[in-house]
This record gives sequence, C-alpha cells and structure tokens, in this order.
Amino acid sequence: MSIGVLALQGAFVEHIEILKRLGVQATAVRRPEDLKDLDGIIIPGGESTSIVNLMQTSAMLQPLKELAGADFPILGTCAGMVCLAREVADNSYPPGLAAMDIVVRRNAFGRQVDSFEAKLAFPALGERPYPAVFIRAPIVESTAAAVQVLARLNDGSVVAVRQGRLLATAFHPELSADIRLHRYFLKIVAGSG
Ligand code: GLN
Repeated sequence: MSIGVLALQGAFVEHIEILKRLGVQATAVRRPEDLKDLDGIIIPGGESTSIVNLMQTSAMLQPLKELAGADFPILGTCAGMVCLAREVADNSYPPGLAAMDIVVRRNAFGRQVDSFEAKLAFPALGERPYPAVFIRAPIVESTAAAVQVLARLNDGSVVAVRQGRLLATAFHPELSADIRLHRYFLKIVAGSG
C-alpha cells in the first residue's frame, strides 16, 4: 500500500513517520506527478490558506479536487479538514477542494485556548478513549446527511467526520502516540473499513 502525504506546508513529516511505523510506503507529495500510483492521500495540519494557495501554484488543486470528487481515500487533519470542506465560515479563505459536505469554522476555539488535548469517545476506533491534540483547530459547524459524525467534544462540537472514503479530523492524529486513527484510515484505503 502506498500513501502520499501532501508536503506543501505544515506537519507532513510526522504523518510520514507514523505511516512508516505502520509498515506502509509513505511518500511526500509536492507535484502532480507524485500523485501517480497512490492508494490514499493525507492532507496534514498547517495553515489552510497557505496550503490551498500552494496547491494552486503547484498545479495540485485541480488533480486533488478530481480525486476527492471521485471518492479517492483522503484523510484531512486540522488544516487538511478545512481544505476538504465544501464551505468554510470565513470569507478570507480561498476555495479549497470542496469535497466533503461539511461547513467548518477555522480557529474555532479562539486565541485563549490555542491548543489542548481531549480524550474523545470515538466508537469507530474501539472502546478506549482517543487522546486528541487540538492546535488552533477548526470545528465542523454542520454536516449533510451523507456525512457520518465519528467524534465530538464533550460540548457536542463535531471534530471527526467521514463521507465515503473521505475522512477528516479537527485534531492532529500524527501528534498523539495513539496510532488508531491512521490504522482506521488505512482500513478505509484497503476497503475493509
Ligand atoms: N488554524 C489553521 C487553519 O485554519 C489550522 C491549524 C492546524 O492545522 N493546526 O488553517
């Protein structure tokens, strides 16, 4: 199995390391040619406006849009979730991949709570709570019927969603020691999740 990690900006190195630990071939994706022969793609956290602008300048926006629109397996984490969203509640944000039927709000926790960790009930990953690391995180404000809500914070905020083979988290799974989220994505890629 070969997974590409979009390496234009942000926390891509950590995703590549986890994938390697899981015995998966992981490659940094920077150009349209790098998309060949992949089974899945991860869009990492970082700064979503920069990532989308870089997608545009590196001619990656259109090919990624086509893949996402064709239900190719993609995991978007934090800024990656923002990139996947159909709608972002922030007018300054450039249009991204617009693939998942979710509305997200960027930096939803404000400056006072820049980052935090929360133990999430996450039934798709098993009974044990999942330790999720949030950094200037978005939340999902609304979802269409086709979108499955996988996890919420205690206050009800939606922080992990799936639509077909597109998976998105508001938190950074590559920064927690728990590899179950990546495993779950690899199951989706393998067609068994
Ligand atoms: N606040 C960032 C954005 O909206 C996301 C932060 C992150 O990926 N850690 O682009």
